[in-house]
Amino acid sequence: MALHDIDVHGLKIQQSDEPLQSKSPEGVLENKWEAYKSHVPLVSPANKMRLDIIVVGTGLAGASAAASLSELGYNVKVFTFHDSPRRAHSIAAQGGINAAKNYRNDGDSVYRLFYDTIKGGDYRSREPNVYRLAEVSTHIIDQCVAQGVPFAREYSGLLDNRSFGGVQVSRTFYARGQTGQQLLIGAYQSLSRQIKVGSCTLYNRHEMIDLVKVDGKARGIIARNLVTGKLEKFSAHAVVLATGGYGNVFYLSTNAMHCNATAAWRAHRRGAYFGNPCFTQIHPTCIPVSGEYQSKLTLMSESLRNDGRVWVPKNKADVAKHPNDIKEEDRDYYLERVYPAFGNLVPRDVASRAAKNACDDGRGVGKSGLAVYLDFSAAIKKLGEDKVRERYGNLFDMYQKITDENPYKQPMRIYPAVHYTMGGLWVDYELQTSVPNLFAAGEANFSDHGANRLGASALMQGLADGYFVLPYTIGSSLAKDIRTGKISTETPEFDEAVKVSQERIDKLFAIKGNQSAESFHRRLGKIMWENCGMSRTAEGLKGAIEEIRALRAEFYSDLFVPGTQFEYNPELDKAMRVADFIELGELMCLDALNRDESCGGHFREEFQTSDGEALRDDDDFAYVAAWQFGGDPSTPILNKEQLVFDNVKLTTRSYA
Ligand SMILES: Cc1cc2nc3c(=O)[nH]c(=O)nc-3n(C[C@H](O)[C@H](O)[C@H](O)COP(=O)(O)OP(=O)(O)OC[C@H]3O[C@@H](n4cnc5c(N)ncnc54)[C@H](O)[C@@H]3O)c2cc1C
Repeated sequence: MALHDIDVHGLKIQQSDEPLQSKSPEGVLENKWEAYKSHVPLVSPANKMRLDIIVVGTGLAGASAAASLSELGYNVKVFTFHDSPRRAHSIAAQGGINAAKNYRNDGDSVYRLFYDTIKGGDYRSREPNVYRLAEVSTHIIDQCVAQGVPFAREYSGLLDNRSFGGVQVSRTFYARGQTGQQLLIGAYQSLSRQIKVGSCTLYNRHEMIDLVKVDGKARGIIARNLVTGKLEKFSAHAVVLATGGYGNVFYLSTNAMHCNATAAWRAHRRGAYFGNPCFTQIHPTCIPVSGEYQSKLTLMSESLRNDGRVWVPKNKADVAKHPNDIKEEDRDYYLERVYPAFGNLVPRDVASRAAKNACDDGRGVGKSGLAVYLDFSAAIKKLGEDKVRERYGNLFDMYQKITDENPYKQPMRIYPAVHYTMGGLWVDYELQTSVPNLFAAGEANFSDHGANRLGASALMQGLADGYFVLPYTIGSSLAKDIRTGKISTETPEFDEAVKVSQERIDKLFAIKGNQSAESFHRRLGKIMWENCGMSRTAEGLKGAIEEIRALRAEFYSDLFVPGTQFEYNPELDKAMRVADFIELGELMCLDALNRDESCGGHFREEFQTSDGEALRDDDDFAYVAAWQFGGDPSTPILNKEQLVFDNVKLTTRSYA
């Protein structure tokens, strides 16, 4: 591969001369997926029985993929580090799932969902993938209803909808504030059925710690049995990673505590490109941080912005007052004022930045001054407390338990927090990574959301990938493997991967330093939040890269891992994950430094309009940055996939 040197604000890195190809099908946008499905090579039922697929992850993306692929007849091995598939982080999803059903007859369509997603992502996603996502969204709802998912219904009996940010229609299907849980129960039932009939084997409490390649293709994984500590080898003809996002690189996030980047990062080190790692989503409505030693942040679902009004006091002198004592005319409903067309339902990146600006302006509330109000008094007056309780009761209860404040009686205090990662493993139209036979689905891939995901679109994408896309696209690779036969694990490639994993573990135990993995993680998170969080500067990012390199050196000289390998040892689990987070954190900062523009959740202070809005540079940055491992975490190679917009005109996003 031909490479040339480039200078990224004083850092010398290499860039590939070959543009990266998405392999999107030819033809008009609306027909691409249909045409693809009609021409993709098929694997006959008899041959499917001879082919093995490993699916890592049992969240919505993994469980739906594993269930569908087993149902098709492949032999599936599915892995989760949790005790039960149902503990996957997807279970935490609250607000809902989008689909272009147009049940409300309010002007929705497949094209509008496609358009909203491209625009919401600030024109940094791939048109054909996004159109396919919008197209299959309607099937997801049918599939889930057939499984018995108890979506909310309206009086007529039709499924109910509500609105999420960045759109002017109601297309979000929901099951109270527990949509992820109900969808996961549906996917888990399908998976359990396949496990019962023997077409799928579940390996719980197994953590993938390396990818095995044979002749350049993904042919298996090395997993650590988290109960016994043993390293185990598993082979397959293809591997699917549905291992979730990497928001916990920031330490404090709304993600489940154990979410981590190890599977994706280890695949990256084996050749899978990492796409747009700096594209992270900061969610505007989370319960504010309350202390130095907090390890988890709690989301208050975006659905609350359907009825809740966001405000801060107009006058700094009022910030310390009880909110109920601040008069109506002294409140600044800043989202409604600045963005009248979308009001409180502007996209997340816009709402988060607006909250930060209000707090930077000295009008933040609460003890820390880092909070704004989300107020339901108008909704309660109009709809009644019972109706509001019916819609959001469990979220209100959660808020009250955590803060000891009653949101029916006074506004919630909220502040932005890390929530979702749009970046992830780069995949082509078939969801195949740059490593042949390695696929990535759900939040683990760099996804269809560009630089900012719209609310309720992650569940849609995870289930689209698992139920409707991978079952077609994986056959295109596996059709070449019908004569390959079983993949043995008794080969030099598997032995080498075990050796590498064992050496990593030995190295961590051998340090015998003084600091816990947790303490390194907390320090990494602080560096990331301050420099690669809601707003970024070249200077801050360069400093962060230096700090992370120093932190990595300190990690390998002063880490302490108690216990031994061959026992249940969560401290070792954590140390291995933090080691990978540190490397990924550096890449995120480099990616953010390289992208000299502001778009979506990536806000570089140097690039903003006079109104403080994100200023894109479409001439120079309408591309996916797909980073290749260059032998050392500090020397990645940049590959570019140029984004082509044939159907949507690139404009400045406006929600005013
Ligand atoms: C609080 C909260 C609320 C949300 N609400 C919504 C919402 O209302 N609507 C919406 O669209 N989105 C929502 N999201 C986002 C959405 O929940 C996630 O993006 C989505 O569930 C991710 O699903 P997934 O299947 O890709 O990954 P996950 O659900 O994270 O599953 C990952 C799986 O991979 C396994 N795994 C990971 N690494 C390894 C490894 N190395 N070895 C073995 N197994 C591994 C885990 O055990 C797990 O089974 C919310 C997110 C949060 C944090």
